[in-house]
Amino acid sequence: MQNIQAFKDYMDQPRKVVILTHFKPDADALGSSLGLAGYLKKKGHAVQVITPSDYPDFIAWMPGNSEVLVFQKERPQKARQFVEGADIIFCLDFSSLNRIHELGELVKVAAARKVLIDHHLEPEKFAEFEQWDETAASTAELVYQLIEQLGDKSLIDASIANCLYAGIMTDTGGFRHPNTTHKVFQIAGELVGLGAEPAKVSKQIYDTNSLERLRLMGYVLSEKLQVLPEYRTAYMALSAEDLKKFSSQTGDTEGLVNYGLSIKGIRLSVMISDRRDNIKLSFRSLGSFSVNDLARKHFEGGGHRNAAGGQTNLTLDQTLQKFLDLLPAYKDELTADEP
Ligand code: 5GP
Ligand code: MN
Repeated sequence: MQNIQAFKDYMDQPRKVVILTHFKPDADALGSSLGLAGYLKKKGHAVQVITPSDYPDFIAWMPGNSEVLVFQKERPQKARQFVEGADIIFCLDFSSLNRIHELGELVKVAAARKVLIDHHLEPEKFAEFEQWDETAASTAELVYQLIEQLGDKSLIDASIANCLYAGIMTDTGGFRHPNTTHKVFQIAGELVGLGAEPAKVSKQIYDTNSLERLRLMGYVLSEKLQVLPEYRTAYMALSAEDLKKFSSQTGDTEGLVNYGLSIKGIRLSVMISDRRDNIKLSFRSLGSFSVNDLARKHFEGGGHRNAAGGQTNLTLDQTLQKFLDLLPAYKDELTADEP
Protein backbone atom coordinates (compact mmCIF):
# COMPACT_ATOMS: atom_id res chain seq x y z
CA MET A 1 0.00 0.00 0.00
CA GLN A 2 1.55 3.28 -1.12
CA ASN A 3 -0.18 5.65 1.31
CA ILE A 4 0.13 3.27 4.23
CA GLN A 5 0.96 6.01 6.75
CA ALA A 6 -2.31 7.84 5.99
CA PHE A 7 -4.15 4.52 6.32
CA LYS A 8 -2.42 3.75 9.60
CA ASP A 9 -3.21 7.21 10.99
CA TYR A 10 -6.87 6.84 10.06
CA MET A 11 -7.13 3.39 11.64
CA ASP A 12 -5.57 4.71 14.84
CA GLN A 13 -9.05 5.38 16.20
CA PRO A 14 -11.91 2.89 16.47
CA ARG A 15 -13.82 2.86 13.17
CA LYS A 16 -17.01 1.39 11.83
CA VAL A 17 -15.68 -1.13 9.33
CA VAL A 18 -17.46 -3.08 6.60
CA ILE A 19 -15.65 -5.89 4.79
CA LEU A 20 -17.13 -7.04 1.48
CA THR A 21 -16.18 -9.88 -0.76
CA HIS A 22 -17.43 -11.23 -4.07
CA PHE A 23 -20.59 -13.10 -5.09
CA LYS A 24 -20.42 -16.84 -4.28
CA PRO A 25 -17.27 -16.37 -2.19
CA ASP A 26 -14.60 -19.06 -2.25
CA ALA A 27 -12.14 -19.91 0.50
CA ASP A 28 -9.80 -17.04 -0.39
CA ALA A 29 -12.64 -14.52 -0.46
CA LEU A 30 -14.12 -15.61 2.87
CA GLY A 31 -10.80 -16.53 4.52
CA SER A 32 -9.16 -13.20 3.73
CA SER A 33 -12.31 -11.35 4.88
CA LEU A 34 -12.64 -13.22 8.17
CA GLY A 35 -8.89 -13.11 8.79
CA LEU A 36 -8.91 -9.34 8.32
CA ALA A 37 -12.07 -9.04 10.44
CA GLY A 38 -10.45 -10.97 13.30
CA TYR A 39 -7.45 -8.67 13.20
CA LEU A 40 -9.42 -5.42 12.99
CA LYS A 41 -11.63 -6.48 15.91
CA LYS A 42 -8.54 -7.00 18.01
CA LYS A 43 -7.55 -3.43 17.13
CA GLY A 44 -10.81 -2.21 18.63
CA HIS A 45 -12.86 -1.57 15.49
CA ALA A 46 -16.52 -2.49 14.99
CA VAL A 47 -16.45 -4.89 12.04
CA GLN A 48 -19.18 -6.33 9.83
CA VAL A 49 -18.40 -8.83 7.07
CA ILE A 50 -21.00 -8.90 4.27
CA THR A 51 -21.16 -11.37 1.40
CA PRO A 52 -23.46 -10.74 -1.59
CA SER A 53 -24.60 -14.39 -1.67
CA ASP A 54 -24.38 -17.66 0.23
CA TYR A 55 -21.34 -19.91 0.03
CA PRO A 56 -20.42 -23.58 0.38
CA ASP A 57 -20.59 -25.46 3.69
CA PHE A 58 -16.98 -26.53 3.32
CA ILE A 59 -15.82 -22.98 4.13
CA ALA A 60 -18.41 -22.23 6.81
CA TRP A 61 -16.17 -23.61 9.59
CA MET A 62 -14.05 -20.46 9.54
CA PRO A 63 -13.93 -18.55 12.81
CA GLY A 64 -16.24 -15.54 12.57
CA ASN A 65 -18.55 -17.25 10.06
CA SER A 66 -21.61 -16.98 12.31
CA GLU A 67 -21.44 -13.18 12.25
CA VAL A 68 -21.34 -12.85 8.46
CA LEU A 69 -24.29 -11.03 6.93
CA VAL A 70 -25.46 -12.66 3.70
CA PHE A 71 -27.03 -9.90 1.60
CA GLN A 72 -29.21 -12.19 -0.56
CA LYS A 73 -30.48 -14.29 2.32
CA GLU A 74 -30.99 -11.91 5.20
CA ARG A 75 -32.64 -8.54 5.21
CA PRO A 76 -30.80 -6.56 2.51
CA GLN A 77 -31.90 -3.47 4.44
CA LYS A 78 -29.52 -4.38 7.23
CA ALA A 79 -26.55 -4.72 4.91
CA ARG A 80 -27.51 -1.41 3.32
CA GLN A 81 -27.43 0.29 6.72
CA PHE A 82 -23.98 -1.08 7.46
CA VAL A 83 -22.61 0.08 4.10
CA GLU A 84 -24.22 3.52 4.39
CA GLY A 85 -23.06 3.98 7.99
CA ALA A 86 -19.51 2.69 7.56
CA ASP A 87 -16.42 4.85 8.11
CA ILE A 88 -14.34 2.58 5.94
CA ILE A 89 -15.19 -0.24 3.50
CA PHE A 90 -12.71 -2.97 2.62
CA CYS A 91 -13.27 -4.78 -0.69
CA LEU A 92 -11.52 -8.13 -0.75
CA ASP A 93 -10.74 -10.61 -3.54
CA PHE A 94 -12.55 -8.71 -6.29
CA SER A 95 -11.78 -5.54 -8.15
CA SER A 96 -14.81 -4.68 -10.24
CA LEU A 97 -17.90 -3.53 -8.44
CA ASN A 98 -20.21 -5.60 -10.64
CA ARG A 99 -18.87 -8.70 -8.84
CA ILE A 100 -20.87 -7.72 -5.75
CA HIS A 101 -24.07 -7.12 -7.75
CA GLU A 102 -26.50 -4.66 -6.11
CA LEU A 103 -24.03 -3.92 -3.34
CA GLY A 104 -21.73 -2.39 -5.97
CA GLU A 105 -23.92 0.65 -6.45
CA LEU A 106 -24.22 1.12 -2.67
CA VAL A 107 -20.44 1.01 -2.29
CA LYS A 108 -19.96 3.45 -5.13
CA VAL A 109 -22.14 6.11 -3.51
CA ALA A 110 -21.19 5.38 0.11
CA ALA A 111 -19.46 8.19 1.98
CA ALA A 112 -16.96 5.78 3.55
CA ARG A 113 -13.29 5.65 2.64
CA LYS A 114 -12.53 2.62 0.51
CA VAL A 115 -9.79 0.02 0.56
CA LEU A 116 -9.10 -2.56 -2.13
CA ILE A 117 -7.19 -5.72 -1.24
CA ASP A 118 -6.98 -7.96 -4.29
CA HIS A 119 -4.93 -9.91 -6.81
CA HIS A 120 -7.17 -9.96 -9.91
CA LEU A 121 -6.10 -8.47 -13.24
CA GLU A 122 -7.18 -5.04 -14.52
CA PRO A 123 -8.74 -3.59 -11.34
CA GLU A 124 -11.34 -0.86 -11.42
CA LYS A 125 -10.26 2.37 -9.73
CA PHE A 126 -12.62 3.05 -6.88
CA ALA A 127 -10.52 2.80 -3.72
CA GLU A 128 -8.37 5.38 -2.01
CA PHE A 129 -6.14 2.72 -0.43
CA GLU A 130 -4.96 -0.24 -2.47
CA GLN A 131 -3.18 -3.38 -1.42
CA TRP A 132 -3.23 -4.77 -4.94
CA ASP A 133 -0.74 -7.18 -6.43
CA GLU A 134 -1.52 -9.34 -9.44
CA THR A 135 1.54 -11.46 -8.72
CA ALA A 136 0.16 -12.49 -5.33
CA ALA A 137 -1.30 -15.99 -5.34
CA SER A 138 -4.13 -15.04 -3.00
CA THR A 139 -5.85 -12.14 -1.31
CA ALA A 140 -5.16 -13.86 2.02
CA GLU A 141 -1.44 -13.34 1.60
CA LEU A 142 -2.03 -9.64 0.86
CA VAL A 143 -3.97 -9.38 4.13
CA TYR A 144 -1.07 -11.06 5.90
CA GLN A 145 1.39 -8.60 4.35
CA LEU A 146 -0.75 -5.62 5.31
CA ILE A 147 -0.92 -6.77 8.94
CA GLU A 148 2.83 -7.29 8.85
CA GLN A 149 3.42 -3.83 7.35
CA LEU A 150 1.32 -2.34 10.12
CA GLY A 151 3.65 -3.98 12.63
CA ASP A 152 0.92 -6.20 14.05
CA LYS A 153 2.04 -9.73 13.16
CA SER A 154 1.90 -10.64 16.84
CA LEU A 155 -1.87 -10.11 16.76
CA ILE A 156 -2.36 -13.02 14.35
CA ASP A 157 -3.80 -15.85 16.42
CA ALA A 158 -4.74 -19.40 15.40
CA SER A 159 -8.23 -18.35 14.21
CA ILE A 160 -6.90 -15.62 11.94
CA ALA A 161 -4.06 -17.86 10.78
CA ASN A 162 -6.44 -20.68 9.80
CA CYS A 163 -8.61 -18.30 7.75
CA LEU A 164 -5.62 -16.86 5.89
CA TYR A 165 -3.99 -20.26 5.41
CA ALA A 166 -7.23 -21.55 3.84
CA GLY A 167 -7.14 -18.76 1.25
CA ILE A 168 -3.53 -19.42 0.33
CA MET A 169 -4.03 -23.18 0.16
CA THR A 170 -7.04 -23.02 -2.15
CA ASP A 171 -5.88 -20.24 -4.50
CA THR A 172 -2.67 -22.18 -5.16
CA GLY A 173 -4.74 -25.33 -5.81
CA GLY A 174 -3.25 -26.96 -2.72
CA PHE A 175 0.25 -25.55 -3.38
CA ARG A 176 0.32 -26.99 -6.91
CA HIS A 177 -0.27 -24.11 -9.36
CA PRO A 178 2.56 -22.03 -10.87
CA ASN A 179 1.69 -19.21 -8.42
CA THR A 180 3.11 -21.37 -5.60
CA THR A 181 6.24 -19.31 -5.00
CA HIS A 182 8.90 -19.20 -2.32
CA LYS A 183 7.01 -16.29 -0.77
CA VAL A 184 3.81 -18.36 -0.64
CA PHE A 185 5.59 -21.10 1.31
CA GLN A 186 7.21 -18.52 3.57
CA ILE A 187 3.88 -16.91 4.47
CA ALA A 188 2.11 -20.27 4.79
CA GLY A 189 4.96 -21.40 7.05
CA GLU A 190 4.66 -18.26 9.17
CA LEU A 191 0.93 -18.87 9.51
CA VAL A 192 1.51 -22.43 10.66
CA GLY A 193 3.96 -21.04 13.20
CA LEU A 194 1.18 -18.72 14.38
CA GLY A 195 -1.27 -21.59 14.84
CA ALA A 196 -2.73 -22.52 11.44
CA GLU A 197 -3.50 -26.25 11.16
CA PRO A 198 -2.83 -27.50 7.59
CA ALA A 199 -4.36 -30.95 8.00
CA LYS A 200 -7.51 -29.60 9.62
CA VAL A 201 -8.00 -26.86 7.03
CA SER A 202 -7.35 -29.26 4.18
CA LYS A 203 -9.75 -31.87 5.59
CA GLN A 204 -12.50 -29.27 6.06
CA ILE A 205 -12.16 -27.89 2.56
CA TYR A 206 -11.30 -30.87 0.39
CA ASP A 207 -12.61 -33.88 2.25
CA THR A 208 -16.06 -33.15 3.61
CA ASN A 209 -18.03 -34.11 0.48
CA SER A 210 -21.63 -35.17 0.56
CA LEU A 211 -22.32 -38.43 -1.25
CA GLU A 212 -24.46 -36.47 -3.75
CA ARG A 213 -21.54 -34.24 -4.58
CA LEU A 214 -19.29 -37.20 -5.32
CA ARG A 215 -22.03 -38.77 -7.44
CA LEU A 216 -22.40 -35.49 -9.34
CA MET A 217 -18.65 -35.46 -9.98
CA GLY A 218 -18.77 -39.03 -11.22
CA TYR A 219 -21.69 -38.23 -13.50
CA VAL A 220 -20.03 -35.14 -14.94
CA LEU A 221 -16.76 -36.97 -15.58
CA SER A 222 -18.41 -39.96 -17.23
CA GLU A 223 -21.30 -38.28 -19.08
CA LYS A 224 -20.53 -34.61 -19.56
CA LEU A 225 -16.81 -34.13 -20.06
CA GLN A 226 -15.97 -33.64 -23.74
CA VAL A 227 -12.57 -33.26 -25.33
CA LEU A 228 -11.59 -31.49 -28.56
CA PRO A 229 -8.01 -32.63 -29.15
CA GLU A 230 -7.63 -30.39 -32.22
CA TYR A 231 -8.10 -27.35 -29.96
CA ARG A 232 -6.48 -28.94 -26.89
CA THR A 233 -9.72 -28.06 -25.14
CA ALA A 234 -12.03 -29.82 -22.70
CA TYR A 235 -15.55 -28.68 -21.83
CA MET A 236 -18.54 -29.71 -19.75
CA ALA A 237 -22.01 -28.20 -19.87
CA LEU A 238 -24.36 -28.82 -16.94
CA SER A 239 -28.07 -28.16 -17.22
CA ALA A 240 -30.22 -26.97 -14.35
CA GLU A 241 -31.81 -30.46 -14.38
CA ASP A 242 -28.39 -32.14 -14.01
CA LEU A 243 -27.69 -29.98 -10.99
CA LYS A 244 -31.11 -30.62 -9.52
CA LYS A 245 -30.85 -34.37 -10.03
CA PHE A 246 -27.90 -34.49 -7.63
CA SER A 247 -29.42 -31.96 -5.19
CA SER A 248 -26.50 -29.71 -6.03
CA GLN A 249 -25.65 -27.21 -3.30
CA THR A 250 -23.57 -24.04 -3.59
CA GLY A 251 -19.96 -25.13 -4.12
CA ASP A 252 -20.70 -28.65 -5.33
CA THR A 253 -19.31 -27.94 -8.79
CA GLU A 254 -16.25 -26.08 -7.51
CA GLY A 255 -13.05 -27.64 -8.78
CA LEU A 256 -14.75 -29.76 -11.45
CA VAL A 257 -13.35 -27.61 -14.24
CA ASN A 258 -9.84 -28.56 -13.11
CA TYR A 259 -10.43 -32.17 -14.15
CA GLY A 260 -10.62 -31.05 -17.77
CA LEU A 261 -7.21 -29.49 -17.42
CA SER A 262 -5.80 -32.61 -15.79
CA ILE A 263 -6.05 -34.49 -19.10
CA LYS A 264 -2.70 -34.86 -20.81
CA GLY A 265 -2.28 -32.34 -23.62
CA ILE A 266 -5.27 -30.19 -22.66
CA ARG A 267 -4.58 -26.49 -22.36
CA LEU A 268 -8.05 -24.98 -21.96
CA SER A 269 -10.94 -26.24 -19.88
CA VAL A 270 -14.38 -24.72 -19.38
CA MET A 271 -17.36 -25.66 -17.28
CA ILE A 272 -20.65 -24.07 -18.30
CA SER A 273 -23.53 -24.37 -15.87
CA ASP A 274 -27.12 -23.24 -15.91
CA ARG A 275 -27.68 -21.31 -12.67
CA ARG A 276 -31.26 -20.44 -13.72
CA ASP A 277 -30.64 -16.68 -13.16
CA ASN A 278 -27.92 -16.81 -15.79
CA ILE A 279 -25.35 -19.12 -17.35
CA LYS A 280 -22.07 -19.24 -15.48
CA LEU A 281 -18.74 -20.10 -17.08
CA SER A 282 -15.63 -21.20 -15.28
CA PHE A 283 -12.35 -21.28 -17.21
CA ARG A 284 -8.92 -22.77 -16.54
CA SER A 285 -5.84 -22.74 -18.76
CA LEU A 286 -2.22 -23.78 -18.79
CA GLY A 287 0.71 -21.59 -19.78
CA SER A 288 0.40 -18.36 -21.72
CA PHE A 289 -3.22 -18.78 -22.89
CA SER A 290 -5.17 -16.07 -21.07
CA VAL A 291 -8.65 -17.03 -19.94
CA ASN A 292 -8.87 -13.57 -18.35
CA ASP A 293 -8.80 -12.12 -21.89
CA LEU A 294 -11.27 -14.71 -23.19
CA ALA A 295 -13.73 -14.16 -20.32
CA ARG A 296 -13.41 -10.38 -20.48
CA LYS A 297 -13.86 -10.13 -24.26
CA HIS A 298 -16.70 -12.58 -24.73
CA PHE A 299 -18.34 -13.48 -21.43
CA GLU A 300 -18.66 -10.34 -19.27
CA GLY A 301 -16.09 -11.69 -16.87
CA GLY A 302 -12.43 -11.81 -16.01
CA GLY A 303 -10.09 -13.11 -13.33
CA HIS A 304 -6.51 -14.29 -13.69
CA ARG A 305 -4.54 -15.48 -16.71
CA ASN A 306 -5.06 -19.16 -15.89
CA ALA A 307 -8.34 -19.04 -13.92
CA ALA A 308 -11.31 -16.86 -14.79
CA GLY A 309 -15.07 -16.77 -14.87
CA GLY A 310 -17.89 -15.15 -16.77
CA GLN A 311 -21.58 -15.31 -17.58
CA THR A 312 -24.20 -14.94 -20.31
CA ASN A 313 -27.91 -14.38 -20.53
CA LEU A 314 -28.20 -16.88 -23.38
CA THR A 315 -29.43 -20.46 -22.98
CA LEU A 316 -27.00 -23.22 -22.01
CA ASP A 317 -26.89 -24.55 -25.58
CA GLN A 318 -26.40 -21.09 -27.06
CA THR A 319 -23.61 -20.38 -24.59
CA LEU A 320 -21.84 -23.63 -25.43
CA GLN A 321 -22.24 -22.86 -29.14
CA LYS A 322 -20.81 -19.38 -28.64
CA PHE A 323 -17.79 -20.89 -26.89
CA LEU A 324 -17.29 -23.55 -29.59
CA ASP A 325 -17.62 -20.94 -32.36
CA LEU A 326 -14.80 -18.94 -30.77
CA LEU A 327 -12.31 -21.80 -30.78
CA PRO A 328 -11.12 -21.58 -34.42
CA ALA A 329 -9.97 -18.02 -33.81
CA TYR A 330 -7.85 -19.23 -30.89
CA LYS A 331 -6.61 -22.43 -32.52
CA ASP A 332 -3.08 -21.19 -33.24
CA GLU A 333 -2.68 -19.87 -29.72
CA LEU A 334 -4.05 -23.06 -28.19
CA THR A 335 -1.93 -25.43 -30.22
CA ALA A 336 1.35 -23.50 -30.46
CA ASP A 337 4.31 -25.26 -28.88
CA GLU A 338 5.25 -23.95 -25.49
CA PRO A 339 8.47 -24.63 -23.67
P1 5GP B 1 -14.12 -19.74 -10.60
O1 5GP B 1 -14.02 -20.38 -11.92
O2 5GP B 1 -13.42 -20.56 -9.55
O3 5GP B 1 -15.49 -19.32 -10.21
O4 5GP B 1 -13.30 -18.39 -10.72
C1 5GP B 1 -11.97 -18.35 -11.20
C2 5GP B 1 -11.39 -16.96 -10.97
O5 5GP B 1 -12.08 -16.01 -11.78
C3 5GP B 1 -11.52 -16.47 -9.53
O6 5GP B 1 -10.38 -15.71 -9.22
C4 5GP B 1 -12.75 -15.61 -9.55
O7 5GP B 1 -12.68 -14.60 -8.58
C5 5GP B 1 -12.73 -15.04 -10.98
N1 5GP B 1 -14.10 -14.88 -11.51
C6 5GP B 1 -15.08 -15.81 -11.51
N2 5GP B 1 -16.20 -15.33 -12.10
C7 5GP B 1 -15.91 -14.05 -12.47
C8 5GP B 1 -16.68 -13.02 -13.11
O8 5GP B 1 -17.83 -13.20 -13.47
N3 5GP B 1 -16.03 -11.84 -13.32
C9 5GP B 1 -14.74 -11.62 -12.93
N4 5GP B 1 -14.19 -10.42 -13.18
N5 5GP B 1 -14.00 -12.56 -12.34
C10 5GP B 1 -14.57 -13.78 -12.09
MN1 MN C 1 -8.42 -15.02 -4.62
